[in-house]
Amino acid sequence: MVVVGAGLAGLTAATDLSRAGVEVTVLEARDRVGGRTHGIEVAPGAWIDAGAAYLGDRHTDLAKTIADLGLKTVPTTMRGQSRFVLGHGRVTREGRFPPLSAVALGDLFDRLDDLVQRVRVDAPWRSGIPDDETAAAWAQRELTRPDARAFFPLFLGEMMAADPADVSVLHMAFYLASGGGLRYLNAFEGGAQDSRVDAGAHQLCRRLADGLGPGVVRLDTAVHTIDQTGRSATVHSASATYTCDAVVVAVPPALADEIRLLPDAPVRRTTPGTAPGRAVKVHLIYPTPLWREQGLSGWSVNADGPLMSTVDDSPAYGEVGVLTGFVTGREATRYAALTPAEQRREALAQAAAIFPSLPEPTGFQVSNWVTERYSRGCYAALLGPGDWNLLGPHLTTPHGRVHWAGAETSTEYFGLMEGAIRSGHRAAAQILAQHRPQQA
Ligand SMILES: Cc1cc2nc3c(=O)[nH]c(=O)nc-3n(C[C@H](O)[C@H](O)[C@H](O)COP(=O)(O)OP(=O)(O)OC[C@H]3O[C@@H](n4cnc5c(N)ncnc54)[C@H](O)[C@@H]3O)c2cc1C
Repeated sequence: MVVVGAGLAGLTAATDLSRAGVEVTVLEARDRVGGRTHGIEVAPGAWIDAGAAYLGDRHTDLAKTIADLGLKTVPTTMRGQSRFVLGHGRVTREGRFPPLSAVALGDLFDRLDDLVQRVRVDAPWRSGIPDDETAAAWAQRELTRPDARAFFPLFLGEMMAADPADVSVLHMAFYLASGGGLRYLNAFEGGAQDSRVDAGAHQLCRRLADGLGPGVVRLDTAVHTIDQTGRSATVHSASATYTCDAVVVAVPPALADEIRLLPDAPVRRTTPGTAPGRAVKVHLIYPTPLWREQGLSGWSVNADGPLMSTVDDSPAYGEVGVLTGFVTGREATRYAALTPAEQRREALAQAAAIFPSLPEPTGFQVSNWVTERYSRGCYAALLGPGDWNLLGPHLTTPHGRVHWAGAETSTEYFGLMEGAIRSGHRAAAQILAQHRPQQA
C-alpha cells in the first residue's frame, strides 16, 4: 500500500495498515513529517507549536495516540487577567469574555447555537440549513447589534481562521457542531483548548514515523499522478514510481485536487468556492512568562491586527516565556505578504501597545501558514456556499483503489488533529475491508 502525506492522518493510516501486516510506503512532499503539526525549538530543549497545539478531553483517539507513543499532555495556562483592545481603549479584566454588550454577545451565541443544533454532523448536507450564503451575508442580515457585528469576525478568525466572506453558513454551523459545540470549542479549561502535548505536538508524527521502521517514509517525494488504469495503482513522483493494491491520499483537499488521477474522479475534492483557512502564528519569546508576575494571563483580543489575539504558549516548565499571537482571516493575507522586518515591526509595536509593561521580546518567530506550499492554508479548508451539497456525499467514497483521509474528510472533529487521526483509522479499515492486500 502507498500512503500519500505524512501528517497525522497518513501516518495513522500507515500505522494501522502496518500493524495489520500490510507492507506500506509513505510518500511525503516536504523534507519533514508532521504536515500541519510542526515544532520550533525556541531555546535549548524548549519547543513550541508552530502548527496545531491544543486538545481537549473529547479528543479520545488523539489521547490514545499520545499515550501509545509515550507522550504526555500539559494543561494550557490561563490564569490572571486578560487584555482587550476593542475600540474602547485598553481594558483589563478577569476571564476571556470581551467587554462588549452582554446582550449583543448573548444574542450572537444564541443564533449560532440555533444553527449548531440544526446541523446533522454525520451528513451536513442533509441538515436542512440552506447552503447558499456566506457567513458574512448571514451576519449582515441577522446581527443588528453593533457589538455582535464587531465581535463576529474576531470569533470566526479565532475559531476557524476564517474571514466571514470565505465560509458558508452551513460550514460554519457544521464546524462548530463537529468540534463539540460553541462552548466546548471556544473553551480552554475543560474545552477544546484544555491541554497541549508536552514539548510539542510535532512529536506525534515523528514517533509514528519512527514506529513504521526505517525506509518506510520517503521525504521530498511529492506525488503528482495516481494511475489505476491497469490492474493495480501506480503512484508517480518526480523521482520514482510505486505500484500497489491501494492508495490512501491523506493531504488537504486543495492539494488532493492537484494530484492527477487516471481515470479522473467523478467529483473533485474542492470547488472554486472552497477557500483556505488563513492563519499566521507570531511567537514572542521572553526569558520567562513575565506577564504572569503582573497578574496577566497573556490572553488578549484585539479589534485591529496583526495580532487578533494572544495566548500564553510557554513551555510547561518555565524554561522560557512565549506569547503566541494569532493573525487570521483577511489580516493574515496582508501580514503574510509583508517583509520579515515589517512583520517584526508591526507585531512588536502592537505587543507593546497591548502589554506596555513587558520589555521587548528576546526572540521573534513567524509561522506563516498562508504561503505554505504543502498545506494550502490552515487550520483547515473552508467550505463555501454549495460545497457541502456537492462535495459532502463523496467525502469518504473511494475512487477505485484510491481512499481519502485527512482532517477534512472526518465529519467528527473536522479540521482538528482528532479528526485527522479518526480519518486515518477509517481509511485503513476501509482498505483492509475492501482490498486483499499482499501480506508483508
Ligand atoms: C497554525 C495551526 C494551528 C492549528 N491549531 C490546532 C489545534 O490547536 N488543535 C487541533 O486539533 N488542530 C489544529 N490545527 C489543525 C491540525 O493541524 C490539522 O487538522 C491536522 O494536523 C491535519 O492533519 P492531516 O494529516 O489531515 O493533514 P496535514 O497535516 O496537512 O498532512 C498532509 C501531509 O501531506 C503532505 N502532502 C501534501 N501534498 C502532497 C503530495 N502531493 N505528495 C506527498 N505529500 C503531500 C503535506 O506536506 C503534509 O505533510 C492547526 C493547524 C495549524 C496550521
